[in-house]
Amino acid sequence: MNLESALKHFAPKGMNISDSSRATASNALTGTDVMGAFGMCQSKSPLGFSAVLAKAGISEEDKERAIQHLLEYARANTPRLIVKGAGKNLIPCLTAMCRLAFDEYTRSAATTHACPDCHGKGVTSGIANVMVHPGCGEKTPAKYRIESTETQCVTCHGKGKISARCRCNGSGRVRDIEKSKFLGCVVEKECERCSGVGFRRSPGSKAFKVVSMHLNDLHIRTWTRNWKPFFDELVSKLESEESHADSVFKSVTRSSSFHE
Ligand SMILES: [Zn+2]
Ligand SMILES: [Zn+2]
Repeated sequence: MNLESALKHFAPKGMNISDSSRATASNALTGTDVMGAFGMCQSKSPLGFSAVLAKAGISEEDKERAIQHLLEYARANTPRLIVKGAGKNLIPCLTAMCRLAFDEYTRSAATTHACPDCHGKGVTSGIANVMVHPGCGEKTPAKYRIESTETQCVTCHGKGKISARCRCNGSGRVRDIEKSKFLGCVVEKECERCSGVGFRRSPGSKAFKVVSMHLNDLHIRTWTRNWKPFFDELVSKLESEESHADSVFKSVTRSSSFHE
């Protein structure tokens, strides 16, 4: 069973977890089994476990715990240039980066955010010179009046929201047209726009803004060269810890000794 789906079924009262891949009822995991597996997972993979818990939105505490675990990792692995550049502001900078890395990690194809161009309203207002009277002959010229207008926002097509979902519809796979034609059957390949994750990554400019609040003289070039790779590393750390926790959970729930 996969950790994320186990957590989706997680309910303190009457755990009733069944896994479709287990055909017979005698093999079904009981609530106690799953709770035991959660415990094992938590001790063997603390960062990954808290990250998945936090992503599933079970409690706000999990999010804080995941961020604290990530911060420990960040403190132990800060590149020398960042330590030097941040000076005494290192901890606030790392804390801010960990929070944003966590947000980035929880972004998924389902994530939407308010459109930045219309501030979520779906329309943009402008000013137009509107003709109110067409005029009549040379003596009566056409009359115009300056009016404020509202037009549908072009960025979000009037929805007020922008989805992080990629054009591959969040699947991360697209049809390989050339190969499909060549082989005469449908061939898929990894989506190049999102490198298979199914949604757009934020460019990290938000992280730059937040970190430069702590370091006034941080230049965007320094950020891109020294800081951004570390920020990306924090996001991938969460992803790899998630898969580690998941594999621990899977092996625990699969092992036969668990049922004895
Ligand atoms: Zn908009
Ligand atoms: Zn894509």
